[in-house]
Amino acid sequence: MAEKRWISETLFDDLGFRMTYAVERVLYEMQTEHQHLVLFEHKHFGKMLMLDGATQVTTRDEFIYHEMMTHVPILAHGNAREVLIVGGGDCGIAEEVLKHKSVARLTQVEIDASVLEFSKEHFPEFTTPVFADARFESVIADGMKYVAETDRRFDVIIVDSTDPQGPGGVLFTYEFYAACKRCMAKGGVIVTQNGVPFFQPDELVSSVGHFRKLYADAGCYVAAIPTYVGGHMAMGWAADDTKLRQTPAETIAERYRAAGAFATRYWTPDVHKAAFALPRFIADVIAGDRA
Ligand code: SAM
Repeated sequence: MAEKRWISETLFDDLGFRMTYAVERVLYEMQTEHQHLVLFEHKHFGKMLMLDGATQVTTRDEFIYHEMMTHVPILAHGNAREVLIVGGGDCGIAEEVLKHKSVARLTQVEIDASVLEFSKEHFPEFTTPVFADARFESVIADGMKYVAETDRRFDVIIVDSTDPQGPGGVLFTYEFYAACKRCMAKGGVIVTQNGVPFFQPDELVSSVGHFRKLYADAGCYVAAIPTYVGGHMAMGWAADDTKLRQTPAETIAERYRAAGAFATRYWTPDVHKAAFALPRFIADVIAGDRA
């Protein structure tokens, strides 16, 4: 019987540990123009996609991150018509955004065409409904270049990026966030994939620090995602309307009902509200930058 292959997430090598997964079957593996991509089957997490040794999405727990990165900003905004996703190549977030009938147009700017092509084949549960939706526009470009040059204006910007390494590094810079502010419509909000504070505090401090120089309201909210190892995952939050984050759960519930109360498995109006109640160590992490 052939030795089982194990694949390790190398994201935290500098911290001296690795998550390692027993591979049932490698479904796809390639070095793209931008990054190393491997998709494999795992007996507990289902299909697992890794880019440059970092877990991106698994079929078993994707709903948590995708719902929280989508329904929180869109229902807090209350009238989001133009939505931009930077990154998001697997289309898991796009699928959630398009559940909102109020959204008139969704633009996704992904740098790596291979991730999109591969996702059409291996993540049809996301890509099929998305590419069948006339409101969806797919752009293959560097997100930094797109937000710096576009004349479009967006109500909600969702940065579903890789970690600040390789092509994703620029998506954590002040210049990128300033360019996002430039193409944000009045009353808009931006949310960002911002790592796991217990292991990656610096990227959260850095992003929130940039947000504070650009927006009236800056912070983060959290959710626990089993394969984003390390406890709470932080999702960066920035907006000029300081009330958006304070929107009462009752108002969020009304908006959710008006949006058709589509099925969710993690997000609820109360979970939405609670996600902004930060554990003290995370509040201290982002407060650290106030000095
Ligand atoms: N949810 C995942 C996470 O939290 O790690 C991210 C998923 S999604 C697959 C990340 C996408 O960001 C990848 O497809 C990658 O190609 C894309 N990406 C990285 N840098 C980019 C850039 N500068 N512009 C646009 N897309 C980028």
